[in-house]
Amino acid sequence: MAEFPVAIKNLITAFERLPGIGPKSATRLVFYLLNTPQSFIDNLSNSLLRLKKDIKICSVCFSVGDTEVCSICSDNKRNKNVVCVVERAIDVMVIENMGGFKGVYHVLGGAVNPLDHIGPDDLKIVELLQRIRKMVNEVDKKDMEIILATNPTMEGEATALYIKRRIEEIDKEVNISRIGSGLPIGADLEYADQATLSRALDGRRSI
Ligand SMILES: [Zn+2]
Repeated sequence: MAEFPVAIKNLITAFERLPGIGPKSATRLVFYLLNTPQSFIDNLSNSLLRLKKDIKICSVCFSVGDTEVCSICSDNKRNKNVVCVVERAIDVMVIENMGGFKGVYHVLGGAVNPLDHIGPDDLKIVELLQRIRKMVNEVDKKDMEIILATNPTMEGEATALYIKRRIEEIDKEVNISRIGSGLPIGADLEYADQATLSRALDGRRSI
């Protein structure tokens, strides 16, 4: 069987490393790209090159943005007393796309997972607790809400429980809620459809 040219083989290998892409899809993508105009490839390459270089991690919520403090954290119309805690920046995008949420976020950077040796110290939990401590001192606790929107997986639930306990150590009166049921158990937030996610957020309950 004839071998693919090196340039094609390299790109197939690179694509195969992406989540959800097997050898067949990778090959299909590469041959699709081969048939697109050079300008498309140039744009794509440029976007890829810029991806990591131009992105800033928000110093408040640890989501991604174009500036030191992201557009959500610097928006005066957002309710800074309602913090939605998520695992990944993609979850911020998913909830934002849903529309309707007027609070702010805190991106943990993952979930506690002993099998992968990810403990609470590997996540932005200390930073979250600092934010909460500051809020407790500055705003009326009745106006505060911490929504734990970690994934409905074993790791996500364990992380939510851990954070709840740590918040209670700061102040027992802080309103803590967990996104409601209806989300597919064991799946990541990003795969939930908007209606389900919207219902899960609206149906959040105090924990
Ligand atoms: Zn931010």
